[in-house]
Amino acid sequence: MRQSPDPSRKSEIPKRTAVSVAEARELILASLPALGVETVGLREATDRVLAEDIAAERLIPPRDNSAMDGYALRAEDATDAPARLAIVEEIAAGHDPQRKLGPGEAARILTGAAVPEGADAVVMQEQTRRDGSEVILEESVSEGQHIRRAGSDVRPGTQVLAKGRGLRAADIGMLAALGRTQISVVTRARVAILATGDELVEPDRLRDDGRIVASNSYALQAALLEAGAEPVLLGISRDEPELIAAAFRRALRCDAVISTGGVSVGDRDWIKQVLAELGGDMRLWRVRMKPGAPLAYVVLDGRPVFGLPGNPVSSLVTFEQFVRPALLTMMGHTDVFRPVERAQLSEDYRKPAGRAHFVRVRVDSREGRLHATPTGDQSSGVLLSMVQANGLAFVPEDETWLRAGGEVPVIMLRRDDLRPEPGY
Ligand code: AMP
Ligand code: MG
Repeated sequence: MRQSPDPSRKSEIPKRTAVSVAEARELILASLPALGVETVGLREATDRVLAEDIAAERLIPPRDNSAMDGYALRAEDATDAPARLAIVEEIAAGHDPQRKLGPGEAARILTGAAVPEGADAVVMQEQTRRDGSEVILEESVSEGQHIRRAGSDVRPGTQVLAKGRGLRAADIGMLAALGRTQISVVTRARVAILATGDELVEPDRLRDDGRIVASNSYALQAALLEAGAEPVLLGISRDEPELIAAAFRRALRCDAVISTGGVSVGDRDWIKQVLAELGGDMRLWRVRMKPGAPLAYVVLDGRPVFGLPGNPVSSLVTFEQFVRPALLTMMGHTDVFRPVERAQLSEDYRKPAGRAHFVRVRVDSREGRLHATPTGDQSSGVLLSMVQANGLAFVPEDETWLRAGGEVPVIMLRRDDLRPEPGY
């Protein structure tokens, strides 16, 4: 079964020079296919991306109604407080007023109930006294008070939500208020995840035999769900070109593909070779960053294929940097980048020039300032550094020594108030 690597087979791979993080990002974001549109029920629409502009077609609220529990009356009847008015009816929300209000009359009214014809103000119950069938007003009343006007929320033609909006709770509430039950949204990106490596097993097959769990697939599956995409798990392929090729062929029913491992320069790193043989167009390989340098980006059959490095931290950091913004863009979002905060570095950070570093940090707020503390061993195999981090501090390529107390931009990994620009 086991194939010996054929060195000549690899020489066909086009040589690529490493690009900067910004170049890689721009290149990837410039070449993405757009996804289709589908109709979903409002209950399934949370976090989906709206594919239509939404305008109101009627008044909300539909009628003038009371903002308080109290009394509806004519303001002119209460210009001289205290005033005494006859209570002629009771109006609760959902019940129509039965008569027009005349001079010297008031209607008991509850919050949300339609204001009767003739009334032009509501007095809160706390500012009145009841005396049998009469109400006594202690203070003067101004016209229009405590009345919510018909259309004060939206009126026909009001542009309520724009295409590209990621739907959140208030948006869903507004769509329901407008009477929408079905809406048009961008389809979720179906994204294949393929793990490659002879050493990998599924977590339920973990034994004391030196093999390691293909944990990347699980982390990336979670990351895809967080991004609103639909993961399609293709399992583990051994480091054999034919098996990897078969897996990539199966992946082509998806909108995008992520592989992990096998994308570096080892004898059994087959990803680039296989993608080239399948007719993929390799747009980039290697980014001047750490972790995550040996990233390959290939367009295969019109689909983006992200050949992520195998190290657990590298695969997650490159997902954050490139895959997540790409998928969010494909799914119609315009804001695709995590917010970036400036934080004070709590210890020196030294590195050689030549590659940008994404340092896993814990950001916390003390005395009104944000502080960033590296989460221990920054090697790309140490997943704990990622578990303990809530941010990635960005250290530019040419930087060699950041002093403790200096400011660094930190990508905030746990926040989803996204931005249209990367911000560092
Ligand atoms: P590679 O990029 O294939 O050279 O893999 C680099 C390192 O990442 C090796 O130590 C692999 O064992 C590890 N690795 C590769 N794939 C995975 C995966 N799916 N989950 C966890 N670790 C992995
Ligand atoms: Mg490998």
